[in-house]
Amino acid sequence: MRFQDPAVWLETLATDGIDVVCPHCGCRAVVSAEPDEGAYAMHWPRRFVCTGCAHVARWQPKGGISYWGGPVDPYFRLPLWLRARCCGGRTLWAFNEAHLALLAGYVGAPLRERNPQRPGLTMVARLPRWLKSAKNRDEILRTITRLNHRLAQRS
Ligand SMILES: [Zn+2]
Repeated sequence: MRFQDPAVWLETLATDGIDVVCPHCGCRAVVSAEPDEGAYAMHWPRRFVCTGCAHVARWQPKGGISYWGGPVDPYFRLPLWLRARCCGGRTLWAFNEAHLALLAGYVGAPLRERNPQRPGLTMVARLPRWLKSAKNRDEILRTITRLNHRLAQRS
């Protein structure tokens, strides 16, 4: 099975809506982007909405600093809904269903190729070494299956 890097950036995946844990009620909530034609997607304003407790919050690019590369949403820094311990103290995480599906495709494929049209620091190119290691494949795929079950849960 062959996997070619679709050349998706982490910042692009984050505009689709990020599943997070609501800090007020523990339910699944979403951080979504509010498109602004005049700015790069990673600098668009963001909105937090929890349907469990009706909490709403806003993040503005002016004065706000985003944080990338950890198991939290980059804007409010809330724990991601899709995060799980894996491979001895590591944390496997994904922003949303599309991100998790991409990870599953990458980890499950014995043959992995770069995208010749669009090289660079794509989500796949930025994956840590432990996640790329063949000896971790089975455990990572089991963890992804667990996270897939979590996609169906609200709390
Ligand atoms: Zn809530």
